Amino acid sequence: MTSTIDPKAIGKPAPKRKHARTLTGYLPEVDESGQEKWPRGEEKVWKEGTRGPDRDVSTITKSFVNHVHTSLARQAYNLDDLGAYQAAALSVRDNLIINWNATQLNFTRKSPKRAYYLSLEFLMGRTFDNALLNLGLKKEYSEGVNQLGFNLEDLLEKERDAGLGNGGLGRLAACYLDSSASQELPVWGYGLRYQFGIFQQLIAPDGSQLEAPDPWLQHDNPWELPRPDVSYEIRFYGHSERLDGMKAVWSGGQEVLAVAYDTMIPGYDTKNTNNLRLWESKPKRGFDLNSFNAGDYERAIESSNSAAAITSVLYPNDHTTFGKELRLKQQYFWTAASLADILRRFKNIDKPITEFPEHVAIQLNDTHPTLAIPELMRILLDEEDVPWDVAWNIITNTFFFTNHTVLPEALEKWPIPLMENLLPRHLQIIYDINLLFLQAVEKKFPGDRDKLARMSLIEEGFPKNVRMANLAVLGSRKVNGVAELHSELLQATILKDFVEFYGQSKFFNVTNGITPRRWLDQCNPGLSNLIHETLRIPKADFLKDLYKLEGILEYIDNPSFQKKWVAVKQSNKERLANYVENTLGYKVNTQAMFDVQIKRLHEYKRQTMNIFGVIYRYLTIKAMTPEERKKVNPKVVFFAGKAAPGYYIAKLTIRLIVNVARVINADPDTKDLLTLFFLSDYSVSLAEILIPASDISQHISTAGTEASGTSNMKFCLNGGLLLGTVDGANIEIAEEVGESNVFFFGHLTPAVEDLRYQHMYHPQPIEQKCPNLARVLNEISSGRFGDGGVYEPLLNTIRNVDYYLLTEDFDSYIQALANVDNAYQNRVEWIKKSITTTAKMGKFSSDRAINDYAQECWNIESLHLK
Ligand SMILES: *Cc1c(COP(=O)(O)O)cnc(C)c1O
Repeated sequence: MTSTIDPKAIGKPAPKRKHARTLTGYLPEVDESGQEKWPRGEEKVWKEGTRGPDRDVSTITKSFVNHVHTSLARQAYNLDDLGAYQAAALSVRDNLIINWNATQLNFTRKSPKRAYYLSLEFLMGRTFDNALLNLGLKKEYSEGVNQLGFNLEDLLEKERDAGLGNGGLGRLAACYLDSSASQELPVWGYGLRYQFGIFQQLIAPDGSQLEAPDPWLQHDNPWELPRPDVSYEIRFYGHSERLDGMKAVWSGGQEVLAVAYDTMIPGYDTKNTNNLRLWESKPKRGFDLNSFNAGDYERAIESSNSAAAITSVLYPNDHTTFGKELRLKQQYFWTAASLADILRRFKNIDKPITEFPEHVAIQLNDTHPTLAIPELMRILLDEEDVPWDVAWNIITNTFFFTNHTVLPEALEKWPIPLMENLLPRHLQIIYDINLLFLQAVEKKFPGDRDKLARMSLIEEGFPKNVRMANLAVLGSRKVNGVAELHSELLQATILKDFVEFYGQSKFFNVTNGITPRRWLDQCNPGLSNLIHETLRIPKADFLKDLYKLEGILEYIDNPSFQKKWVAVKQSNKERLANYVENTLGYKVNTQAMFDVQIKRLHEYKRQTMNIFGVIYRYLTIKAMTPEERKKVNPKVVFFAGKAAPGYYIAKLTIRLIVNVARVINADPDTKDLLTLFFLSDYSVSLAEILIPASDISQHISTAGTEASGTSNMKFCLNGGLLLGTVDGANIEIAEEVGESNVFFFGHLTPAVEDLRYQHMYHPQPIEQKCPNLARVLNEISSGRFGDGGVYEPLLNTIRNVDYYLLTEDFDSYIQALANVDNAYQNRVEWIKKSITTTAKMGKFSSDRAINDYAQECWNIESLHLK
């Protein structure tokens, strides 16, 4: 495979759409160097070293006012912050559109190999601030809106988060888009445009989680461009009739329309602006006219409703699957539309279909888009008349698969009856793939029936299921995990048979990363500025090459640098304290240590252990004399995170945290030394406030369960120290910053399986196993934090099987917390740990991760836009 640019394609005009014409007199002349000369019209040219045409403040205010009058149809003398945000956003968008157009034209002309990132989740957060940063227009816009009587910070607050994801997997996709665009790589994202993103979390008076819909599109979304002209018909149900050979005809059923919406993804410090294409479902016709005319209005709108329902809401489960038909519909709708779009673009370059993998790479973000494999097979066999072997060869050179978890409940399976009904042709293809595959396995490992059963795409049972991970492995050129430990575990456990069959070279690792633009410069401008002033290099130098942060180690012993470092942390703590006061009405002691755990609520992440540790600390302080209390390190503990609405134990954990907070924060004996807050409605924007303020953060999953984690990287980049288990990317963070700079505790991965076995078959009462934890659980049961009976189901998961091994790790956890307290007493040493941690985070830039993918998988190259 090569990705060299066809020299003939350079300078070739973009292929035209049907019936499209060039505006008379507007054809650009392209000289030898590829430079375009536009004949006339408004000159939109950039001065060297700038990123957009609207650089000077007076141009910005003019375009702002213009949008107020024309786009918004509002009056200049009557504008609120929301209107001002919209006008400013539209004016920024003008810049993005120009760059976006230039980028797409450049890609079309040069037709380099492209990569497509298929993800059911993109947790983008806000766009405005990021667009300003990446365009390099932040100062100018700040000044511009100031002149008009507004404050940029207030306008930024008016934007709603785009919450089209649950947690780490969706945020990873967003960081990868930022890195791809910043490195001028031809990478597009494909996803779904959910009407409602991740639910809004409210906390009821009794402490339990309530869910409200997330109407993020309510005030229009200035960051997207509807493309009603880009649409595809997607079929469901019907029947499939086999023809000669491996072909078939799929017909009947129901057809819905997939309509494209494009979101511009500006690169940092470059004009390059990539695209995230999200699909919305629409009925093919508005409604069924026959029923309507027959007076059956309800029937008439029923099918239009069911078509619109496909992209109406994001499934709010993280690390679990639910086997619902609508979810399978979402997956097929999205993969089919994306593939149709990719194929149409490929056909524009007039190459034989066998060369598809030389022009296209498709990354499957988890198993969610695995139907793309049988869908591309269907197109190649049934529509393009490609023989089976040739088609399969195209498939296995096009797709790449990233696994995100080894948790059994998260491995996707679809019941055969469901698949047969919804996607009859795809099930046939899956059967055919399976037959040929199992024959090959049988040939290599004759007579090993257990192996065949384990590797089969079909899981036996009532009903039988299709195993999506197996299908993704078969259909992909390469398969990767998301941190070293996770990739090793994958190959040693759920993919062991496949490693034996295919050999080692198909499997590899790409450790996750985060974008330093959002997770350093945007969320922590104070720290970014300090680094910039200290290193005396342009911000772009370290924001594009994060290894450059190591330069600050030279100043680690410099008292004035240390002082500035602490001052930045302090002001971030005050910003968070303000947020808490405004939302919860509490005054926070900003002199205390800030201890933060923010992530999806899940038993494997063990927020339970953290809250039990808080209770333990509370009881310990309670039992002290006033003299003893003087030696206690004051601490404020923060939690945030959503629980899947159907995840009972996770929701009980939230309720417990909130009620423990109520008791502890009101206790005059302890409240100067220990307070606790659960901040509701965790989101990217809330993370941007919490992370820079943390002294210590907790990443305490049972060893072997957290594939990577990415919030651990965000905290460390912002100078927060890490308290964690030897799991996921924690291990690689410790390798980089040095083990003396992290607080590790708990059993290691190899011990976990044995311990679980003992718990199952030789259970021991918790009083014997871990008296400290037993005492905490008894305090909860006794009603110290409100009605104890409420929490029994949660407490019993630990008293009984204790699958996530709290009883095994609790004592060493308490010891690790004590180590954190001790280390914090030596403030200078602590500051040096903090500086070292930030300095050593180079590896965890998503720029590095995206380069790993570009080189190991996609074989694509940067395309510089002049
Ligand atoms: C980074 C991030 C996550 C992932 O957090 P982990 O602790 O790695 O699970 C989840 N949600 C949001 C909003 C994030 O920004």
